[in-house]
Amino acid sequence: MSKKKVIAVFGATGAQGGGLARAIAADTSGSFSARAITRNPESDKAKALAALGIEVVSADTDQESTLDAALAGAHAAFCVTNFWEHFSAEREGKQATAMARATKRAGLAHVIWSTLEDTRKLLPLSDSRLPTLHGQYNVPHFDSKGSVDATFTQQGAPTTFLLTSFYWENFIHFGMAPRAGADGRLVLAMPLGGAKLPGISVEDIGRCALGLFRQGPGTAGQYIGITGGILSGLEMAEAMARAFKKSVTFADVPFDVYRGLGFPGADDLGNMFQYQAIFHDEFVSSRSLETARTLNPGILSFEAWLAANAENIPLA
Ligand code: NAP
Repeated sequence: MSKKKVIAVFGATGAQGGGLARAIAADTSGSFSARAITRNPESDKAKALAALGIEVVSADTDQESTLDAALAGAHAAFCVTNFWEHFSAEREGKQATAMARATKRAGLAHVIWSTLEDTRKLLPLSDSRLPTLHGQYNVPHFDSKGSVDATFTQQGAPTTFLLTSFYWENFIHFGMAPRAGADGRLVLAMPLGGAKLPGISVEDIGRCALGLFRQGPGTAGQYIGITGGILSGLEMAEAMARAFKKSVTFADVPFDVYRGLGFPGADDLGNMFQYQAIFHDEFVSSRSLETARTLNPGILSFEAWLAANAENIPLA
């Protein structure tokens, strides 16, 4: 039996990297094995990966020196950062830069960087349509990722830039579920400004990443945007209504109202949704269901995702 090529997976105890690690482990006849990278191999999530036969190693992207051992001997790496753990675009940039440089030192053949747009390319900070946040960002958690793309190109191993979409799991875990209005009927309230929203089941991101690794580094330098479906607020509400067998209406929340909701990151997310509305055509056309399906033929539609997950959406 030939030896499998190791894909080192950052964020393997999380949503995107976890999907990839599980997809590699499930592909028993494939040519890859997963190496899960975590700060805490003793966590329940790390142990669950180990129980699937996945190698688990310790490293911390805040400490660049820890990354070399984690990548040693690997063929490829999946890189992702978690802005929402610390809300610091600067720290996210440093973590991603550390990963990029480590992939080069390790001599990896292929890297996937889970990035998002640096919105300042299309919308300069001088444009008054979006309030500037933290002095230098439109959408901190987008801009920080996109601004590291060049670092991967210049200082990293051959890198494919993966543009992901809104996780439909946000309806379960991120406080975005429909809520009962004054009349008791469910309302899906989101600030979409009439735009359609590219979405995806997060487990499918990892499966698409595996598809990219199978293709090899030929896509290095390219942006590959993936979605399981691009739906309007009304279409999402109608699909939810069918899944819940209850009325769900859609309320398009004004961006300023959303930014003012007061929860951590409300301003960042409000700007994100407004950017997606302003640059709707660019944003939507950079994410493709066809591409995602080629990489991952079983990709779920919103309807199929709801069929499997509607009961997990907390309705209040
Ligand atoms: P997640 O489920 O929240 O998990 C975070 C992962 O990052 C964990 O595996 C964690 O590992 C790892 N991690 C965090 N800090 C680390 C560090 N210093 N060193 C090593 N590992 C570290 O994450 P996710 O949802 O897959 O990805 C988060 C990113 O997705 C965010 O930056 C967000 O902007 C982006 N995103 C989100 C959406 C959405 O709709 N929510 C859509 C597109 C993109 P340990 O804790 O085990 O060390």
